[in-house]
This record gives sequence, C-alpha cells and structure tokens, in this order.
Amino acid sequence: MLILSSLITINVSAQSKALVNTSQSPHALLSSVNMGDVQWTNGFWAERFKACRDSMIPNMWRIYTDPKMGHAVQNFEIAAGLDTGAHVGPPFQDGDFYKLFEAVASIYAETRDKKLDDLMDKTIVIIGKAQRADGYIHTPAEIEERNHPGVKAAFQDRLNFETYNLGHLMTAACVHYRATGKTTFLNIAIKATDYLYRFYKTASPELARNAICPSHYMGVVEMYRTTRDPKYLELAKNLIDIRGLMKEGTDDNQDRIPFREQTQALGHAVRANYLYAGAADVYAETGDTTLMHTLNLVWNDVVNRKMYVTGGCGALYDGASPDGTSYLLKDVQEVHQAYGRDYQLPNFTAHNETCAAVGNVLWNWRMLQLTGKAQYADVMELTLYNGMLSGISLNGTKFLYTNPLAVSDDLPFQQRWSKDRVGYIGYSNCCPPNVIRTISEVSNYAYNVSDKGLWFNLYGSNNLATTLKDGSKIKLTQQTDYPWNGTINITLQEVPANAFSLFIRIPGWSKNAKLLVNGKPGAIALTPGTYAELNGKWHVGDKIELQLPMPVTMVEANPLVEEVRNQIAVKRGPVVYCIESAGIPKDKKVFELSLSSNINLKPQNIKIDNASLIGLSGKATIIDNSKWTNQLYREVNAKPLGTVDVQLIPYFAWGNRGHVEMETWIPFSR
Ligand SMILES: [Zn+2]
Repeated sequence: MLILSSLITINVSAQSKALVNTSQSPHALLSSVNMGDVQWTNGFWAERFKACRDSMIPNMWRIYTDPKMGHAVQNFEIAAGLDTGAHVGPPFQDGDFYKLFEAVASIYAETRDKKLDDLMDKTIVIIGKAQRADGYIHTPAEIEERNHPGVKAAFQDRLNFETYNLGHLMTAACVHYRATGKTTFLNIAIKATDYLYRFYKTASPELARNAICPSHYMGVVEMYRTTRDPKYLELAKNLIDIRGLMKEGTDDNQDRIPFREQTQALGHAVRANYLYAGAADVYAETGDTTLMHTLNLVWNDVVNRKMYVTGGCGALYDGASPDGTSYLLKDVQEVHQAYGRDYQLPNFTAHNETCAAVGNVLWNWRMLQLTGKAQYADVMELTLYNGMLSGISLNGTKFLYTNPLAVSDDLPFQQRWSKDRVGYIGYSNCCPPNVIRTISEVSNYAYNVSDKGLWFNLYGSNNLATTLKDGSKIKLTQQTDYPWNGTINITLQEVPANAFSLFIRIPGWSKNAKLLVNGKPGAIALTPGTYAELNGKWHVGDKIELQLPMPVTMVEANPLVEEVRNQIAVKRGPVVYCIESAGIPKDKKVFELSLSSNINLKPQNIKIDNASLIGLSGKATIIDNSKWTNQLYREVNAKPLGTVDVQLIPYFAWGNRGHVEMETWIPFSR
C-alpha cells in the first residue's frame, strides 16, 4: 500500500498496469491487458517497435535535449533555477516532451532496459525541481516570472497551452507509474492535478475555459483511475460542462456551442479528436448518456462525411467554419488545421495533421473500450496503418506535419508545411513525439479483456501472457505476416479451467473470412465489422486459425466528394496504396496515369530503406496530361497512348526515396 500526497491510498500491486486503465470504469465493457503483457515477436509491428526503440526515441531525445533545437530539458532546468536563460520553443513544448517521455516509459514496460529507467529517473528529478510548490508547472510562464520579477505569467492567456502541457504530464506520469511501479513522476502529476482542481474552483470564467488542444481531459480521468481521488472525476466533469458557456467561444476550439449540443465535427482536428477522446473517458466513469449522444453524432459525421480514406482528419489548412452562428458574414468564423464541410476532402491541400490521426486512434480506442463494437477497431486500424504511420519515415527520423493525399510540383503556390519529410519540424514539432509514443504503444491495443473473455483487436506476431477479469492466467502465441498476409495462427499455451470466450475481430474490409478451431471450421457466422465469439472450454495446445483473404481492392468515394470523382484508391487488407514518382518510369509523371478496372495488380515483396513491404505492380494506362501551359480548359484527346509499368506502394511509405510527386486517388476507367 502507498499513501500519496493527497492522502489517497492506492494498492500498487493490485492496480491494473494498463496503458489506459478502464478496469474499474463502470461504463466500459472492455479493459486492457497490462503494459508488457504483449511482446511483438516478428513481422510488421515488431519491426516498427524495434525502429522506435533503436532509432526513433534516441533521435528525438537528442533533439529535445539539444540546446540548439528542442531545448526542452533546458527549459525545465532554467525554470528550476538550475540554469539561466530564456525559454526556447513553442508554449506547448513541455507537453511534447512529456509525450516522448511517455514513449520511453512504454518501451521500458516491454524491454525492462535499465538505461531507460535511469534516463527517466534523472529527468524526473529535473522536472520535479521545475514544479512550483503549489503544483503549477509550465516552463514558459515560470521562466518569464523568474526573469521578470513581479510579472504574473501563469494562466494569463487561455491560448498558452498550459492545460495541454499538464494533460500530457498526467498521462505520461500514469504510464510511467504503471510501467515502473515508481511514484516519483506520479507525485509530480498529483500536485499538478491538485493545482488544476483548485484553479478551476477559483478562476474567472474566461480563464477557466483554458482548453487549447485538451489533452487534459484524458489526463485528468487517467489520474482519477490511478488515484481514485473523486475530486479528479469532479474536475473532469466540470471541464466538459464549462465548455461553450462563454460568449467568445469559437468553432475552431469547439467551444462556441456547449459540447452536448454539438452535432458535427468542427474546427481544429487535433483539438477536436482530443476533446472527443476525453469526453469518452468521462463517459466511461460517469455513464452520462448526453456525452455519448454527442460522441455518436460526431463519430458518424467524421466517419461518413469528413475522414480521409487513410483515416486522416482535418481537410483544411485554413478556412471558415461551415455554418458560423448565422448567415451574416460578420458571424463567419475562421478555422485552421480543421475539419471542413461534409464531403470536402481535397488531396493536394489536405492538412491532415499527424497529431489528428493520433487523436483519431485515441478516440476510437476509447469508443471500443466503452462498447466492444468492432467499427471502432476498424477505424483505429485504418488510421494506425495509414494516416498515422505516414507521419514518420521508415527509418524513424524524418517527419511530416501534414499528410496530403497528393503532391504535385506543378502547383503554382507554396503551402506552409513541407511536403518532404524533415528531421525536425521546428516550432510545431508536436507530431513526431506523438507518432513515436503511438508506435511504442500499439502492442497495448492488440487485445482486450472483458467479463466473458479475451478480445483480439489488432493482428501481428506476438506472445501474450496475461490474466482474464476473474484473475485466471492465459498465455498464447500469435503468428502472422499481417498486414501483408491475412492468415493468423493462434496457439493457446496456458488456459483457465473454466469455459470462456475468444472474441476474434473480423475486419470490416474483409470478405469470405474463415475461422478454424483445431483445423475445423467453427460453427459461427463471420460477419465483417464484428467480433466472432468462440465460446467453450479451451485446452493447452488448441489452435485457432483466422484466414482473411487479401485481394487487391479498388475503393471509390461517395460522388459528393467532388475532388475524387471518377478516381479510385487502391487497398489491400487494411493498407491504402499510392503511386509516387519513384515507382514509375522517369519520363512519366504520376498525373499522366490512370488505372482500368481490368488491371491486374500483383503483390510483390519490396524493400524501401530496408523496410520490408508489399508493393503492387501492374500496367497503368497513359493519359494525355502533358503540355498544359498556363491554361485552364482544353478539348479532350481521346487517342489511346499506351501503357506503362507502375508500382504502387503503401501510402504510409511514400516520400522515403527522396523528393517525389505522389497520388492516392487515381483516375479510373471502367
Ligand atoms: Zn502535431
């Protein structure tokens, strides 16, 4: 037993060590296995995890400790009075550093690498010294106050990302505590959460609305789950209730309309998805159906009208909120990095921030925990393999802030963010640590447990050793080359004596799935987009084989998506493909190609930057897209121009062979 500073007693040994702990959430159907219970063994996620451990984390840690780049640790040292100088970096950099810290803790949970433990211990000491006695911690304001005595900088500007930073501190501290059993970082987070609780009790309504990019809804609820301190749940509920009560709210920040009155996704897509994920967490604890009502409406809006085929979110770099508050021009509100109108999904200019894809994963993961519905696992898987992974290079050291679905060198305007992968995004480096922590944590999304048994959400070769809800132990191995091959072999190695269920996810994209138990077809219907429940008494050595055929498929969009009419996207399993200029003859351009319905795209093993992938090769039809010279319209040249060999590659792998042009939606002839 451990007595924490806020006099809450928690039983360390009995606590779930899950990444997101819904084990005691009264309104969540599913809960997670402990961190470290799943070990990737080989294949896709094992390779990504290894790149994360060996390349992504050391590289990003170097950036955040380099005084000429990240300066993140230096900011904590200056705020602590251990060094002098000015704050360097954006106001949200503390939070981005906590995300990287969370990735280190997640890797540690799987590897038990003492060097990582030592690194975290040393860093926690510095962060602890930067925390004020009252619990406040936000280095931009602390350094400002230190360098200008008499100035009050804390919580003076609601756009200053304080709650974003505090939220990531809380999440990282819960993960560190569960990964290590140590309370050093958790105690800092308890002081910070207590500070935030007191702040919201006394702040002016305007300041209380401080909720830019609200990671703290997730963070505060996770602190409640760790400490069971009821005032944290009270804080989380208040944080949702207070939204939309002010006159100056904006659609960009999702606070013009009270949360419970919202019916569609609006505004900044990262902020939106973090809000939805946080509201789902509050629902898990309270069962407040008015929150679920909004979440259902908004989820349907995103998935059916506003999400890219890659799971990407946020069509607009900059724009106007679709409806404003009235038809009057003066009421039209500016939005940025935001969801657009229904079916407004441009490709060249798509914003699709990597963090919004991460937010989509966080949100859908929580919806899955609440309901056990496979539709959320489908969106989570789609986003993980496509819109999230596209944000990081295969070698793990170069990044995209935005994730367009097409890139052309001929567009006569520049956009704000690089279309080439870069090593350091600079001021807005929020995405790299976010994508790194996500990759470090995918193993935590592979399984769930419920009162009835074990749930299989994501496939990938791994060993699982965990306990079911009743405390009985289960061990199994999963062997598969997913997502390149749809055969998944599961062998049970230790099983409870009593009957229980295995819930096998049949992905929404699949057709003609087969499920064999010890070589014989199971007597249950396999409906795509559901979990198939295999109930029975299980024995050591029992084998389950899931076969998910993975033909190459062509996907079309609702014709209301005008940007992609008469175009198709190519998918195989959960992976979306694209064409980039490195995969076609040098004398051809990506935008001179079209695919016909009888094209026979053949899967082939390829390597890009040492990563093993499946490419698709075939012959594309050449269309006359040459010799456009400052001209908007012309007569069609219908003469056939022949065919050319093309190789499609997974969308997430684009841009790893130098500068390229690229397209995901490809002109199509039936
Ligand atoms: Zn970002």
